[in-house]
Amino acid sequence: MITAIINCFAMPTPLTSRHVAVIGAGAAGLVAARELRREGHEVVIFERETQIGGTWVYDPRAEPDPMSLDKNRSIIHSSLYSSLRTNLPREVMGFRDYPFISIADKTRDSRRFPGHREVLFYLRDFAREFEIGEMVRFETEVVHVGLVEDSNKWKLRYRKKRSEVDAEAETGDGFDYDDEIYDAVLVCNGHYTEPRVADIPGISSWPGKQMHSHNYRVPEPFQDQVVVLIGGSASAVDISRDIASVAKEVHVASRSVANEKYEQQPGYDNIWLHSMIESVHEDGSLVFRNGRVVQADIILHCTGYKYHFPFLETNGIVTVEDNRVGPLYKHVFPPVLAPSLSFIGLAWKVVPFPMFEFQSKWIAGVLSGRIALPLQEEMMEDIEDFYRSLEASNFPKRYTHYMGDSQFDYNNWLAAQCGCEGFEEWKKQMYYATSKNRQVRPDTYRDEWEDDPLISEANQDFILKGF
Ligand code: FAD
Repeated sequence: MITAIINCFAMPTPLTSRHVAVIGAGAAGLVAARELRREGHEVVIFERETQIGGTWVYDPRAEPDPMSLDKNRSIIHSSLYSSLRTNLPREVMGFRDYPFISIADKTRDSRRFPGHREVLFYLRDFAREFEIGEMVRFETEVVHVGLVEDSNKWKLRYRKKRSEVDAEAETGDGFDYDDEIYDAVLVCNGHYTEPRVADIPGISSWPGKQMHSHNYRVPEPFQDQVVVLIGGSASAVDISRDIASVAKEVHVASRSVANEKYEQQPGYDNIWLHSMIESVHEDGSLVFRNGRVVQADIILHCTGYKYHFPFLETNGIVTVEDNRVGPLYKHVFPPVLAPSLSFIGLAWKVVPFPMFEFQSKWIAGVLSGRIALPLQEEMMEDIEDFYRSLEASNFPKRYTHYMGDSQFDYNNWLAAQCGCEGFEEWKKQMYYATSKNRQVRPDTYRDEWEDDPLISEANQDFILKGF
């Protein structure tokens, strides 16, 4: 046990030091950079925004196209809404090497499920503690990543906005472009920015407004409106309640609800739960599968996001099909391009930060040569077996990176590869306790819970780790 902890936290002896590009300075890119550097690699993080934090940098602006379908739109990265509080308790959410502990300071949010700003502060603290900021090139967008011919290296093309003075003097698109060569590229660009939209019969002639939750910030614009919200995720639950505070009616349509279902949301006199939308019509009406008809002002699509790598050119080796990024060994390495190309954070329905950390340790160790990957054919076989198991369980392709219960075995598998301790048992129990509490108390789970003994265990663990 003690040896395992030492292996995990001690500085390993670097075997081969690589020149590595990390795309994105969100939680995944930050922890990746930390693990890569402590394995002895030379790291540059490319970040198109002006600060670290990715998703957790709240932007009160929304994109001009409320559905974000225009490919040439100027992108707002974050999908956070103003009222968002975490849906995981801070003990579960933080990195295993740097817990998300409450800070007794008036400027900080010490709640167990804090508001979004506190997560950003936590990531900033993490970056400061491990001096990650110095590795980041801000306002530098990666626009192309492709293999250098006859080599395993990658050419990365990036652009930086010219200063206003220079931009006036020059012609072109106002950006300066440059290329650099790297031994390896880690893709950490997030996957909550490119909306997925529900296909609704009749939608092209429906006269109402439409919007994707990517552009939802505050409820006020929905004052006195009749809103139909599609989706059943954590965001859909939060946003429906947020909007119900001002809207006339909120009708939630969910694919996971039985066809005949129609009921009022307990505790609310203006939220109704429905099965999916059957069709929409020119007169502004919407018909649900349960037979109910509603005249709505707006449809709000809380229908999730697509994996999107507009910069990545792999000659067809890595593809995105029905939201399956593949083929990827253990959701990270494309066998043919391993280990020089890898992806962090594709899995969903997981505890993200600790998983990013395990994936990062694994990638860092593989790149240095400390950890061996199976042969290319063996990795491909593993992927094919995995795809077959998904099919056998009737999981659609778009569920390839869904994990849920399997995340714990997955994390423990990664930990075993790295020779470090696996996912903490108390953390797993707390994750399940929170999921149950969320179902029992959807409105108050962030402020009322029954897992205090697990909190004590977590705090003991943090003390043991020196926090
Ligand atoms: P991101 O945080 O999205 O970071 C990606 C970064 O890459 C960004 O900074 C972006 O600017 C940059 N980038 C993208 N493309 C380029 C490019 N071409 N060149 C340069 N830079 C680029 N997780 C939790 O643990 N708890 C929660 O309560 C929780 N709530 C959530 C609520 C919402 C509404 C959403 C959308 C997500 C939530 N998550 C939550 C999941 C959250 O996304 C992860 O916690 C995590 O922040 C993802 O980190 P990331 O680094 O993978 O991606």
